[in-house]
Amino acid sequence: MTILGLMQENELMISSLIRYAAEYHGHMEIVTRTVEGPIHRYNYREAEKRSKQLANALIDKFGLKQGDRVGTLAWTTYRHFELFYGVSGLGAVLHTTNPRLFDEQITYIINHAEDRVLFIDLDFVPLVEKLLPELGGVEKFIILTDRAHMPETNLPDVICYEELLAGETDEFEWPIFDEKSASSLCYTSGTTGNPKGVLYSHRSTVIHALAAAQNSAYGLSMYDVIMPIAPMYHANAWGLPYVAAMLGAKLVLPGPKMDGENIQGLIENEGITFSCAVPTVFSMLFQYLEDSGKKVDSLKRTMIGGSAVPKAMKEKFLKTYGVSVLQLWGMTETSPLGVVASSTPEVDNLPADQREEILDKQGRVQYGLEIKVLDEMGEPIPRDGVAFGDLWVRGPWVTASYFRNEGGSVLDKNGWFPTGDVVTIDQYGYMKITDRSKDVIKSGGEWISSIDIENLAVGHPKVLQAGVVGVYHPKWEERPILVIKPAPGQSLTQGEVLTFLEGKIAKWWMPDAVFIVDEMPLTATGKIKKTTLREKYKDCLTG
Ligand code: ADP
Repeated sequence: MTILGLMQENELMISSLIRYAAEYHGHMEIVTRTVEGPIHRYNYREAEKRSKQLANALIDKFGLKQGDRVGTLAWTTYRHFELFYGVSGLGAVLHTTNPRLFDEQITYIINHAEDRVLFIDLDFVPLVEKLLPELGGVEKFIILTDRAHMPETNLPDVICYEELLAGETDEFEWPIFDEKSASSLCYTSGTTGNPKGVLYSHRSTVIHALAAAQNSAYGLSMYDVIMPIAPMYHANAWGLPYVAAMLGAKLVLPGPKMDGENIQGLIENEGITFSCAVPTVFSMLFQYLEDSGKKVDSLKRTMIGGSAVPKAMKEKFLKTYGVSVLQLWGMTETSPLGVVASSTPEVDNLPADQREEILDKQGRVQYGLEIKVLDEMGEPIPRDGVAFGDLWVRGPWVTASYFRNEGGSVLDKNGWFPTGDVVTIDQYGYMKITDRSKDVIKSGGEWISSIDIENLAVGHPKVLQAGVVGVYHPKWEERPILVIKPAPGQSLTQGEVLTFLEGKIAKWWMPDAVFIVDEMPLTATGKIKKTTLREKYKDCLTG
């Protein structure tokens, strides 16, 4: 007979994070580069108060109820941070929209989510004005600024955020409800079909934050100064608004500008020790550091994910700037923490080159997430770092299905989620992505990793971005081609690129053609848009 434990079963509430930070780290700063321009500073105590004022306003002025969706089109700022806690804290659902999506995608997801109110940063007012005729379901538009900066706009009955808060008290008891209740909603870019909504819960968010806060995951503590450059609309800035509050660490929010000057200035002035972003952002930072001769001395670690980390980027961070790079693999569907390339005592004891090769991979799982890799027959692949197969994941912060059951049931019968990534896994448990399954290049029946070729190509000092796709070839079925965007002020030839790759990859992996372009097509999350490249170059080998 089972005998139940006699321990308390407190619901895991997102509000508990800000409550804790306000009570025990109340003086700790939250610093923002605002959309209006200047730096804004306050602390967790004030942030909680304003989140409570916001919760009161949402209930009193808009009649918002638990489960109602609140949309945002906003950068990474303290006002967005208040929405993270105020909206989820009262039991409503925060829907962060990626403003870089196409117009039709933005209207689609705001309508699909049924956002009742929409909070908008100044920069996005013209966008919302344009989309207004399509946004019939949105009852209120609130602009995230003060009276002095309110723009002229034809949005109906538009509300100023600071005025909305000003009339409210900060007396508010965070409600306790079922931890499985929805807390926030984030759509994935949906390279095929419509974007799909990942609906996080209070429980999944708090457990994810606990996992991410482990030393072997993001490796943070309250002594860190954390700056998520990964935006709040991209998998909740990788969970950092929650993790930082859980730790009581100083948090710096970079606002709308991802350029090297803003990022370097914040690092230096605020003493940032930890930051995270997709690789493209750090390429821009390097460029600025080289041109300006400025430093990032306080920075100790960067976490890079979303696309594979080029080896050249990792080396440059370490050798030139003394910053270690931690690679993260994850998806919107995994909140996003999947695997992290942190070391283990076993790996530390290996010869240096072997250790390096392992830590260049995407990484290993933390407690709480399970992964399995299956071959084409559905059999587990050997953990030898060579065999590859489809990656499946399972765990309390992984999607069970998409919002409003878009795409039907996604899990297999044992609850595993298919990631769409093709990977190897080695004897130490480190996973390496060879490709997204839809990007895999199959040439003469053999597989070629587009990611490996791209990573080598960006190691060339004159190359800024490199994209490899498979295109039709009459004999080999598919062959890789390489598209290069040179670094600013640089030009290079096809021949230079090919000579650089020679000897570094197998002969039959060598691209059949190299194209040098001025603009690389990027997705809304800053990744190279392979679908566009495939379409553009589909006939290039058949003429
Ligand atoms: P989107 O497609 O909207 O960018 P995600 O951010 O959820 O959505 O993308 C997840 C995908 O990004 C993963 O399935 C994987 O293909 C890719 N990815 C994420 N991190 C890495 C990494 N470190 N290395 C290589 N690919 C990565």
